[in-house]
Amino acid sequence: MVRPSQQLHPHREPAPLRAAATVLLLRDTPSGLEVLMTRRSPTASFAPNAYVFPGGRIDEADTAARRIATRRRTQSRVQLTQAIAAIRESFEELGVLLAHHTDGTPVSAELIAGMDRSTADTTVAFAEQCAARGLQLSTDRVFTLAHWITDRDLPKRFDVPFLVARMPEGQTPTADESEQFEPCWVRPADALARHAEGRFFIIFPTVRTLERLAAYADVDAVLQACTSRPEGEGPLWTSCPRAGLLGGKEARYMEHEHPYGELAMVCPDGQIVHALDWQTEHAVPLLKNLRRLTAPNPSAMTGPGTNSYIVGDASTGYIVVDPGPNDFGHIGRLWKATQGDIRMIVCTHSHADHSPGATPLQALCKTTNPPILGLPSAPTARPNARFTPDRALADGERLVLNATAVGDNGETLLPLHTLRVIHTPGHAANHLCLVLEEDGLLLSGDHILNGSTTVIDPPDGNMTHYLDSLDKLDAACQAGDVRFILPAHGHVIAEARSAIARLKAHRLKRESKVADAMRRLPAGTIDEWLPLAYDDVPERMWPMAARSFAAHVERLQKLAAA
Ligand SMILES: [Zn+2]
Repeated sequence: MVRPSQQLHPHREPAPLRAAATVLLLRDTPSGLEVLMTRRSPTASFAPNAYVFPGGRIDEADTAARRIATRRRTQSRVQLTQAIAAIRESFEELGVLLAHHTDGTPVSAELIAGMDRSTADTTVAFAEQCAARGLQLSTDRVFTLAHWITDRDLPKRFDVPFLVARMPEGQTPTADESEQFEPCWVRPADALARHAEGRFFIIFPTVRTLERLAAYADVDAVLQACTSRPEGEGPLWTSCPRAGLLGGKEARYMEHEHPYGELAMVCPDGQIVHALDWQTEHAVPLLKNLRRLTAPNPSAMTGPGTNSYIVGDASTGYIVVDPGPNDFGHIGRLWKATQGDIRMIVCTHSHADHSPGATPLQALCKTTNPPILGLPSAPTARPNARFTPDRALADGERLVLNATAVGDNGETLLPLHTLRVIHTPGHAANHLCLVLEEDGLLLSGDHILNGSTTVIDPPDGNMTHYLDSLDKLDAACQAGDVRFILPAHGHVIAEARSAIARLKAHRLKRESKVADAMRRLPAGTIDEWLPLAYDDVPERMWPMAARSFAAHVERLQKLAAA
């Protein structure tokens, strides 16, 4: 875990979560699936004027109303209460009532018209009104689509399932004209298009929910998706978004999106202060003891550019990991960011976008003359990826930055920042990763990337070694409580172990596609197999994929021969 003392921003307790529920009422039309939305009051304390789905806080009374609720066998008690709250809210706000008589006949519009929708203290409680008319709530027709938790930065926060139900026949929504206005049926894609034009204000969870909803052809398809999860009933996704700054503007992300992990590490409590724009002109602080300076070498191979990491602080001096290409400006900026106090220069591997900056950087640091550390390139390395460090690093070796403490017994050295070396062949034979032990961070070089896929280029690259190294990294993450991964290309990755598991699963899935292609065309060539095995990858990526493809073929042939 990251030491609190190294966090850039003071701890701030996010607002407490309140339980709420919202429901997407859906209907089929000749032009596709539609969802019911309404505009919130301009004076609402949360998301004023936003178009939303009906919903609100869960009351004590909702739990008590379970006696008139119809429960599906697989529906949990919590889901039942959420469904009751959603039904009550859509009744109060829009006059839509998901209910039926005990004999199964649906409630009529006339009966609903005679009920009191106001929420004044004098109103007979919703459940009492239903019970008095012999109505049962159709809670068994309400399903869980998603689970949203309001972002940590917002002053009011809700823990809210987004439920779905088919709109009952014969009812017409009418707004309460106090909390909700202008009920409208809208196709998800149209709502998103109007939002993009600035004509239909919706907040982030609504946007993302509509985006997913747009993929379904009709109501049945949505309900089917909600009930056919292998894990049983539950949300199709759960998210507590995070926001950063992009081009000076707020930008929000869900957990699976590339910048999320970086925001989780730099602003754990949801402060919206971290700029996500790629910086080649100055080092970006990620923690007090960790900065990232990106080299100005963006390309299809290097993504936004090579990340040089600067570990340490003014009291300990610095270790620079991956000085990058031999770029005069970049090397100068690394020197400047460290005031020349570089104690060690480490290259994760020898590739041209990682190690050539080491020698010129060393030459600039005249007072400290830092050693260049890493692993010598193997004979299999391409001519432009040859590299010989001043000293080869041993697997498990620790590189320590000490602070000097002066006490009664003279000076003592306090280890403050320790990088442990992990040999990880696979992407390159001389690849290594580093764990910043005190903060549980993994500097992954090119072994794990964010936003792109590591190329395994035989013979220096090796797929079996790559997969074995992933296992080794997973074990190191488990042993060292490593939460975040800092790749040489792309933003920080959160949930280190899940990310490694996903990566491994992705590789093995690709490998089974390669094996399938080879089985289907036993006499085929790479040019014939590749389009089959990479049919989900854009064609322009195929030349790059061809190298990893060869690595899979090599591994499969070795496995078959074993
Ligand atoms: Zn590389």
